[in-house]
Amino acid sequence: MNTQKKVAFFKTDIGTQEEHAVMEVLRSGWLTTGQQTADFENAFKTYTGARNAVAVNSCTAALHLALESLDLTSDDEVITSPFTFSASASEIIHAGARLKFADINPHTGNIDPACLEQTISPRTKAVIPVHYAGLPCDMNEIMNLSFEYDLKIIEDAAHALESSFNSQKIGSIGDFTCFSFYATKNITTGEGGMLTCDNDALAEKIRILSLHGMSKDAWKRYHPTLNSGAKNYYQILFRGFKYNMSDIQAALGIVQLSRVDEFWEKRRVRAQLYRTLLQDIPEIELFDDDIRSKHAYHLMPVKLRTDMLTITRDQCIELLRQNGIGCSIHFIALHLHPYFQDTFGLIPSDFPNATNVSERVITLPLYPILPEEDVVYVVETIKRILCANLRKPLIPVT
Ligand SMILES: *Cc1c(COP(=O)(O)O)cnc(C)c1O
Repeated sequence: MNTQKKVAFFKTDIGTQEEHAVMEVLRSGWLTTGQQTADFENAFKTYTGARNAVAVNSCTAALHLALESLDLTSDDEVITSPFTFSASASEIIHAGARLKFADINPHTGNIDPACLEQTISPRTKAVIPVHYAGLPCDMNEIMNLSFEYDLKIIEDAAHALESSFNSQKIGSIGDFTCFSFYATKNITTGEGGMLTCDNDALAEKIRILSLHGMSKDAWKRYHPTLNSGAKNYYQILFRGFKYNMSDIQAALGIVQLSRVDEFWEKRRVRAQLYRTLLQDIPEIELFDDDIRSKHAYHLMPVKLRTDMLTITRDQCIELLRQNGIGCSIHFIALHLHPYFQDTFGLIPSDFPNATNVSERVITLPLYPILPEEDVVYVVETIKRILCANLRKPLIPVT
């Protein structure tokens, strides 16, 4: 019998409240976008302080819609971090613009404002800062660049639902903010996303784009003489998409959002415990915090000092797996992937900080129902693995 301890990389926390909410929708007869979705959007506006919120079926869709609403051309450039999930970059390409990367600060994992400024050209129209692991980017610097160079700021807040910067809630700072409710994110609707936006006209356009570019409201607005007999007709106003959220997802989202502070507090306690236990291990580097920010503690990434070890990062992950511990990598930097290398002619040295961190990072298990004793087990196992694989000094110490 295998009695080895198991620590899953992630487990969801779905309770009876979520089950009841979803069952109610299933029995109501209305499954697609409706009252639940509107209620979820309103709750989300209250939580983030955003002026407008549009529920969609993924963060990827939210990023795409924000970019589409800007009517970018193939001459326009959009800058993002190479140290992110592929969606932050691929949506720039889908929106028909030119993708540019700017390197990160290796201590935070976030886009480096100085690298960002160097990458800005007269063609730059927008920037997608990614709040890595839930630590907000330096939004002072980024908003200053946005005013100076007239850039739209589309925040990828897939990790940063609970975050704030200088007491300002993420979702109420940039022009657009995109959130994810993917299965492993801070709250989940299975799949889902939300786009917040301070501009009413752009928010309305995004809402229309999210459902085929179709508007019943606009039909009424542009044809004031129509009688009520035509109320079921619609007009296609734009080349739209099928990105709407269903009421099944929204019902889940409403309950999950009501638990967001409970989830955050549990992750915070576990992240702090990791930090306390890991901080004196010389072969581990922690990412920086920022006293100006509220961290969402979405992920617990650490950097291995591979120069002090005889094993690679991947071998370390394999040894952790053999000890029953699930780990992940956030992220393999985008310019190290075949598609981005081949399409844009990128090489690892183009973004040295992202390359360096990408090759050393390991994401440890972190979620609300992770037992605190499992945090201790993970750290003790890491210590054991590192101690057994230390590089001996080349020159004997005298
Ligand atoms: C998860 C994630 C996304 C994509 O979210 P989906 O809801 O799955 O589309 C985008 N950006 C980052 C940084 C992510 O981690």
